[in-house]
Amino acid sequence: MIDERFWGYMFAPNCFIRFKTFGLWTKEESFMKTFLPKEALVYVEEREEALDCSMAHNVSMLADGQLSLCCLDYEGEMGLPNLRDTSVVELLRSPQRTAIAKDSMKAEVCRRCQGNLFVFDTEAASGAAVALDKFGRGWHPFEPDMNGIGGRWSNGEAWTYLLARQDNNLLALRFLSVHDSASPLTVQLREYDEASKQFGIVLQEQTFFGTQNQVTEVELPLHLRTGKMYRIDLLSPTFTPGEPDGGGDQRKLGLVLFDATMRHGESTLPALPAELPPPEREPIQEAPVEMAEETAVALAPAAAVATPVALGTIQRWLNRLVRRP
Ligand code: SF4
Repeated sequence: MIDERFWGYMFAPNCFIRFKTFGLWTKEESFMKTFLPKEALVYVEEREEALDCSMAHNVSMLADGQLSLCCLDYEGEMGLPNLRDTSVVELLRSPQRTAIAKDSMKAEVCRRCQGNLFVFDTEAASGAAVALDKFGRGWHPFEPDMNGIGGRWSNGEAWTYLLARQDNNLLALRFLSVHDSASPLTVQLREYDEASKQFGIVLQEQTFFGTQNQVTEVELPLHLRTGKMYRIDLLSPTFTPGEPDGGGDQRKLGLVLFDATMRHGESTLPALPAELPPPEREPIQEAPVEMAEETAVALAPAAAVATPVALGTIQRWLNRLVRRP
């Protein structure tokens, strides 16, 4: 008994039987589908990294005797035996239980439980740019005070999702790279296959460059068809920040992304001379970011414009973070 409320029995030392109800919150996807407009698209990005979830060390039983490890598995999807066919002892020794207790990502219900859930707007777009706002794996939390406009670090292999609500042909990125300006950065496009429920092979790939320690804008030709869902990977080198003040930040960092939008139309960035040579390698700066004249960098096939970083917030954290990658 806790606080006069009945919650179950202790039938042996440290062994409890608890009767538990569940709520719709336990399965966000079915909850969302129940209450969202029918046309809304719900997508669950499953977790992939191994996880030792404490809940998977429990044993649960459904009303029909079906055994499970967690109240979230209220439909018995973990594939464990039924108490009518086995004993609790056999269940505890079963390879399925051992595997899931060791790494709960062996069970789909757990991968979805620990994953990310996205709801996509399905209404036709008006022709304006559509923001990529479904940040999948590989992004560190959004930092609202970054450069005064807010941005987020990638870990070097990050991606976003987009449901194309109109045909698009340009991906505009505004980002900051702390890497050598000759470091190639890559965008890859994959399309979602309804039948296999997976994103397939890379359909398109673009290489582009930033200017070290400056905010750069690029417009990359990526073709998206109305009604299709896409995954857009953003690949970049990574480094681990060295913190002279002794902080413990050990995150792998790639680019800082401020904005990402898709639209249809002509590029608004300066036209590019086709014969422009690739940028020369520059020594890695270890000094603080300096203000520079606005420069335009043209890179085939995408246009790019680099603008100096406003001194202020971004300089302070770059001073702390930048080191030779
Ligand atoms: S990952 Fe989620 S579903 Fe799996 S055992 Fe843990 S809490 Fe339960």
